[in-house]
Amino acid sequence: MAAALAHRAVVATLPIVPRMVVERFARQYIAGPTLEDAVAVTRELAGQRRLVTYDILAEELASLDESRELARQYDAVLARIAAEGLEASLSVRMTGLGLHRNPAVCQLLLQSVVARASELGVAVTIDMEDSSTTTATLDAYRRLRADGLDNVGIVLQAYLRRTREDLVGLAPLAPRVRVVKGVWDEPFDRAYGDPETIRSVYLRIVARLLEAGSYVELATHDAWLLEESLELVRGAGYGSSQFECQMLLGVRPELGDVLVAEGNPLRIYVPFGPQWHPYCVRRLRESPEVARHVVNASIRRLLRRA
Ligand SMILES: Cc1cc2nc3c(=O)[nH]c(=O)nc-3n(C[C@H](O)[C@H](O)[C@H](O)COP(=O)(O)OP(=O)(O)OC[C@H]3O[C@@H](n4cnc5c(N)ncnc54)[C@H](O)[C@@H]3O)c2cc1C
Repeated sequence: MAAALAHRAVVATLPIVPRMVVERFARQYIAGPTLEDAVAVTRELAGQRRLVTYDILAEELASLDESRELARQYDAVLARIAAEGLEASLSVRMTGLGLHRNPAVCQLLLQSVVARASELGVAVTIDMEDSSTTTATLDAYRRLRADGLDNVGIVLQAYLRRTREDLVGLAPLAPRVRVVKGVWDEPFDRAYGDPETIRSVYLRIVARLLEAGSYVELATHDAWLLEESLELVRGAGYGSSQFECQMLLGVRPELGDVLVAEGNPLRIYVPFGPQWHPYCVRRLRESPEVARHVVNASIRRLLRRA
């Protein structure tokens, strides 16, 4: 309890930590500012028997023109994957494509990126953002599937109270699903806060997806949860072409080594781009140890200046 409160206090301080300090600690979580950096990381990871999924760092953009530019950048990533035969997929964000500004334009941009990826034989996953976007994201996913675009996958968050019901509606589509705990600050009436409840919902989601015959993506660094999920996967008779584990770049690579050594497919989420700050703050919030270092470094810096 005391540790949780201390962590919350540290996390509350993160937004005012100078960017330079965050950047120093955050480097482990991002490939770098350019696609070139991401491709270099991909080659390194391929040598460690890891697949990747690319994420262009872009949160809410200032205009629809910027969203169109982001869609062009997604196309450039797809072209590079295809040209070099990289073992990579693409992760995309609805808010980056203009969801809050103009949902119709967002759907068109998303449709064009997923269709281009389909032509090139590349898989796309729509990241799941905060709960104000969940309904729109699932609707967009359903529309793409209705258009015959089966290369698209979705993310379900175990902490959201609505997820189990969403799953009932989605199951007939046998969706490819990345299962995560969930990373956004959500109010109590929308999300569970208790870690054990979230773990147990996570396992129920995995079990339901296995029943539906879905391709399952276990995206967590929680070793216990991975073990339990993998047991469900094996119990369902799934082979290594029907599931994968997923981890974030820079987080618990030693756990990744174990997963790979045991023969499990592992994909690393590789973010890149100049807009790294909000992403890195989210990662730091998940790691009490690293977040404490960052805040302490910032305090030391201020004291030195004083
Ligand atoms: C591939 C991938 C894609 C994701 N996509 C989404 C998405 O679309 N939408 C969404 O809401 N969430 C997404 N997430 C984030 C997810 O919801 C969790 O917030 C995140 O994975 C941390 O939860 P955990 O399951 O790893 O468990 P935790 O209990 O948070 O972590 C388990 C262990 O890993 C360590 N750990 C976790 N994070 C870090 C870190 N940053 N640095 C150092 N150690 C760490 C913890 O200290 C702990 O020991 C994604 C996660 C992954 C792996």
